Amino acid sequence: MSDVAGADLSPDAVRAEVDQWIENNWDPELPLARWRELLAGSGWACPTWPADWCGRSLTPELGRIVTTELKRAVVPGPPEGIGMMLVAPVLLEYGSDELKQRFIRRTVTGEVTWCQLFSEPGAGSDLAGLQARATRDGDGWLLTGQKVWSTGAATADFGLLLGRTDWDVPKHQGITAFVLPMRQPGVQVRPLRQMNGHSSFNEVFFDAARIPGEYVIGEPGAGWLVARTTLAHERRLATFPAVPTTATGRAHDPVVRQEVARLIELAWSARWLADRTAAARTAGQRPGAEGSLGKLASSRIARQAARVHSLIAGTAGMLAGPEALLGGTIAEIGVSVPGISIAGGTDEIQRMIIAERILGLPREPDVSAGVPFREVRAG
Ligand SMILES: Cc1cc2nc3c(=O)[nH]c(=O)nc-3n(C[C@H](O)[C@H](O)[C@H](O)COP(=O)(O)OP(=O)(O)OC[C@H]3O[C@@H](n4cnc5c(N)ncnc54)[C@H](O)[C@@H]3O)c2cc1C
Repeated sequence: MSDVAGADLSPDAVRAEVDQWIENNWDPELPLARWRELLAGSGWACPTWPADWCGRSLTPELGRIVTTELKRAVVPGPPEGIGMMLVAPVLLEYGSDELKQRFIRRTVTGEVTWCQLFSEPGAGSDLAGLQARATRDGDGWLLTGQKVWSTGAATADFGLLLGRTDWDVPKHQGITAFVLPMRQPGVQVRPLRQMNGHSSFNEVFFDAARIPGEYVIGEPGAGWLVARTTLAHERRLATFPAVPTTATGRAHDPVVRQEVARLIELAWSARWLADRTAAARTAGQRPGAEGSLGKLASSRIARQAARVHSLIAGTAGMLAGPEALLGGTIAEIGVSVPGISIAGGTDEIQRMIIAERILGLPREPDVSAGVPFREVRAG
């Protein structure tokens, strides 16, 4: 089946084949790296990707069956994170064959790791106002400037980067998407400490960092298309956790019951929305503005879940540290959840996208429209 592109397969046939493959290949003694190579070679790691690029060209519905079977067998899946979720899909869509050859399989096996270098101190919601400058240098490019909030940049091998390559055209037209090698003298990463105590975010500074010419994704100047596709993937990935159906010890408190019911209601409507989006994908529709509905739903669910946790835990849930209730998890959730309303575009920006692109309301005025970026007051 591995060389069958979009074949008419039944769910039962896919389930049986993946189960058989796991039975034939899984060995708990295998090193993780070796297991992931087998997964990548079999096409089961990312079954909806093209058969030529570590996939099996299955529909999203059949792909979900594969994911479920891997979980049911309690075997490791492909690596999670930015590489698999954002970079590889974008390279599959816009990358040259050389870029795909260089990075797709190594991303699936976990041999290379990635970060997303989009946001800057003056360009978050207004991402198209970014100012990290990439200039041509022989066959390649030199990069100068700064990014911020770059999750995982301290450990990443490569970054998916947006740089400004043309200052004489309107802001959306002068951006180019690159693969940036992170481990080089021109790149300096400084971790930031977050209020939940972790340091997953970083500031990243570029001082004549080198980018090989063949590391441009798509065409120079067409980076906004890559950016929009990346964000559509990021928003599509909003997850909807299982929700509690009882509130231990406080199950009869009417206020707790009401808030739990509200959480269940939000989670179920978001799941149905996600199913509808998956069906659209199966029918060939590309990820688009509907991802903003899922993204907004996921941040509302996260906030409501944190509220329910606090109601159940009471004041003990405010304590942090290993000796606190559940090792301080409730307190950590409380201070981490607001980030979900910001990452991948804030709630306000999602509402704007929904208003303009789904409801067809008038567009927000843009004083920079049609103006060369060099004349725009950015940041
Ligand atoms: C957990 C997390 C992980 C992240 N990971 C990454 C990463 O890996 N890589 C990366 O590049 N970035 C990352 N980010 C950054 C994130 O994309 C930005 O923080 C986000 O886009 C908002 O930009 P900003 O922080 O500059 O806020 P601003 O854009 O300055 O916004 C400030 C406030 O103004 C509001 N606002 C702005 N413009 C408008 C408008 N037109 N209409 C109405 N309200 C508006 C916003 O909603 C917000 O409330 C991450 C952020 C978080 C929280």
